[in-house]
Amino acid sequence: MTIRIGVIGVGMIGQDHIRRLTTVLAGSSVVAVADADAERAREVSTGISGCVAVDAHELIRSDNVDAIIVTSWGETHAEYVLAALSASKPVFCEKPLATTQEDCRRIVAAEVAIGRRLVQVGFMRRYDDEFRALHGVVSTATIGEPLLMHCAHRVGSAPGLVTAQMVNDVAVHEIDTIRWMFGEEIVEAQAFTPRHNPNSPEDLADPLMILLGTESGILADIEVSANGAYGYDIRGEVVAQSGTAALPEHETIVVKRAGQFAGDVPVDWRKRFARAYDTELQEWVDRLAAGLDSNGPSSWDGLAAAATTDAVHEALRTGGAVAVHLPEKPELYC
Ligand code: NAP
Repeated sequence: MTIRIGVIGVGMIGQDHIRRLTTVLAGSSVVAVADADAERAREVSTGISGCVAVDAHELIRSDNVDAIIVTSWGETHAEYVLAALSASKPVFCEKPLATTQEDCRRIVAAEVAIGRRLVQVGFMRRYDDEFRALHGVVSTATIGEPLLMHCAHRVGSAPGLVTAQMVNDVAVHEIDTIRWMFGEEIVEAQAFTPRHNPNSPEDLADPLMILLGTESGILADIEVSANGAYGYDIRGEVVAQSGTAALPEHETIVVKRAGQFAGDVPVDWRKRFARAYDTELQEWVDRLAAGLDSNGPSSWDGLAAAATTDAVHEALRTGGAVAVHLPEKPELYC
């Protein structure tokens, strides 16, 4: 069965997802696109056989569309995800699920009322081979009980980035990774702004250090750097009772020469996570084709991420430790 997909928001990542669905992955076709910029939607549709450009809500309602991908701006996600749920259609929504906790809660409530996991959120770290290998070591208790995790999300250069995005768009990936790695909720957040990087605008909190505590007392730190100048570097190390496990250097040939060794650092997130995005969407399509609901990052994960980023912002404002508040987890997500 070929899954007929409609894509809402055909900007940078929307077009990249369309490219992978139409040229890399199997089992789906892109049959409709929508965008606030109708001309952009029309241009994108002309490059895809059998694809039409339509209004976003028409796309969601269309009998020709089996499943929806939402890659418009974050502020518009809740509207489209709720509309997809009203139509009882599977929807893959790029992060964030919504820009407020209140909207995330509305989505969770709507999905719980349907009683099916129709929503998947684009936390693609969970599909990265290296993160999956690290998760495997932790979940099989190879190194015993986890105690600490050190994470770093270093961006080579990020012109125009503002401090809110350091949390909501950058650290949010580590926030989801930490919850997934340990299968626990984050219960407390602190944030620190150390000595400022002279490469960055004065009003950008760069670097930013975030400290998160989980339900069982695991402590995880996240270093977010926006202008590290040497490339896109994602680091993760779990410290456990009998050993440690760390992500490797990403896919590089190590050259040893003249008493030194060297390798490549990925230039940006597209290169670092290219295969993770492929795996993420292929697994989503495969499950739909098999008649199964999503088992990927859920609406609950979207809500938990939003609750944690809100706590980090509060910690930045107050300078203290802030509790992360979540409602009781519905059975659907257990
Ligand atoms: P982008 O290039 O600006 O694309 C967004 C597109 O959505 C634009 O074409 C925009 O049109 C359109 N749009 C805006 N409002 C809309 C509406 N109400 N209805 C339909 N279309 C609308 O942004 P992007 O970088 O692709 O990011 C899109 C989303 O993906 C964001 O939520 C972002 O956080 C997420 N993202 C996730 C990852 C990841 O690692 N998982 C990576 C990149 C992006 P206009 O330009 O005319 O406003």
